[in-house]
Amino acid sequence: METTNPIPALDYETVIGLEVHAQLRTRSKMYCSCSSDYANAPPNTHVCPVCLGMPGVLPNINRQAVEYAMMTAQALNCSISQYTKFDRKNYPYPDLMKGYQISQYDQPVGLGGWLNIEVNQKIKRIGITRVHQEEDVAKLLHRDEGGMAYSLVDVNRSGVPLMEIVSEPDMRSAEEARAYLVKLHSILRYLGVSTANMEEGSFRCDANISIRPRGTDKLLAKVEVKNMNSFRAVFRALEYEGERQRKVLSQGGRLAQETRGWVEPEGKTVSQRSKEFAHDYRYFPEPDLPPITPSSAWVENVRAMLPELPEARFNRFVSQFGLPVYDANLLTENRETAEYYELLVSSDPEVSPKEISNWLVGAAAGILNTSGCDIIDFGRRVNPQNFTALVKLVSKAVINSGTGKVVLEEMFDSGKTAQTIINEKGLGQISDTSELETAAFEVIRDNPQAVADFKAGKAQAVKFMVGQLMRLSKGRANPNMASEIITRKLGEL
Ligand SMILES: [Zn+2]
Repeated sequence: METTNPIPALDYETVIGLEVHAQLRTRSKMYCSCSSDYANAPPNTHVCPVCLGMPGVLPNINRQAVEYAMMTAQALNCSISQYTKFDRKNYPYPDLMKGYQISQYDQPVGLGGWLNIEVNQKIKRIGITRVHQEEDVAKLLHRDEGGMAYSLVDVNRSGVPLMEIVSEPDMRSAEEARAYLVKLHSILRYLGVSTANMEEGSFRCDANISIRPRGTDKLLAKVEVKNMNSFRAVFRALEYEGERQRKVLSQGGRLAQETRGWVEPEGKTVSQRSKEFAHDYRYFPEPDLPPITPSSAWVENVRAMLPELPEARFNRFVSQFGLPVYDANLLTENRETAEYYELLVSSDPEVSPKEISNWLVGAAAGILNTSGCDIIDFGRRVNPQNFTALVKLVSKAVINSGTGKVVLEEMFDSGKTAQTIINEKGLGQISDTSELETAAFEVIRDNPQAVADFKAGKAQAVKFMVGQLMRLSKGRANPNMASEIITRKLGEL
């Protein structure tokens, strides 16, 4: 007897939580007065006994960094701890000058927040577990000179304020993880607390990713993925890793608790170290730093410093300017674009906000793409009044939109006003009657067949000749006047 008893393919779901480290944009480091602006500094020039980890030194807390972390925590809807302290996280690694990192263990700055993401037109709330403060570590440079391998240490980065933002494991796909990161990135940039530049490492993301049979809450193995340096890398790495874990199980394998690194050129994750033996960081309270007990007045002052955040601005753009969701999303993703747009709109109330949006997300975005400029550079070259004046010239049909695009490019290159460029290049519509009459004369002279058609009562003939006139003027003839003059001249024949 034949039995068909297929083993049901298990339906797994992916569970993702993200840890983001963002460098804070303070002038000095977290626990000393060295400059934290080390980007173009020669190695080991922004150092002092504190960030070098010399024995017997005393750290100080950077108040600006604490306020930035409090701002972030509030923007992420966290509650601000009334008592927060620093802890030593002990681990031996050459990039850690002191042999421990001053971090926050059980009493972080902010707890229990959330942010909203939108995937496939659905809003989803992602929990924020905590926001805490710590310090960056030194940079190791690994060299290999003809088989002689060695490592160099650059301490400039050591002690730069870092903020860690830990999410709940609420994301169920690589798309959701990417949407979360984009949103968090946008919020930090709006707040101005971090440059949040992923390529430069001021915004770094580690991901915890597991799978589990759908409908259960038992995670199979927690895998941490590191080394993702762009939104795209995070997306690709998590897509790959979810698939890899499913494949291991479908082939009867066992998933290991481990840390894996994303290898961008190969498009895969590789095992870096096993997590079977979890680190014991032997956290204990930092004896050299006092705990922070922010007064409610301080917390409220910091709250008052919060700018309008992306979501609020999005909603306002939709309601105040009547923009479609698509436009409002593009315009509010970064603060600089949103601010430039508002300058454009306010520079001439007669021009419709939607038309301005079309030009900004269309032609201007095209120029940004090809030139590699950002919106701040663009705004320096094309000042808001001039841009809006151009949009108005097109909406008043002084020039057509094709010419408008050419004019905008020229404005971007030369900084001249639209009107100057139109005058200099003779790009304006021809509304000069005598010029148009001469052209109409030529069109009628050169198209006897169309004239005959007109006399035979074919209305199409007029349209054809207006088209010829437009062509003759390279599209610059005022179409209404052209039609009027052709019709009049034909009537006079
Ligand atoms: Zn220092």
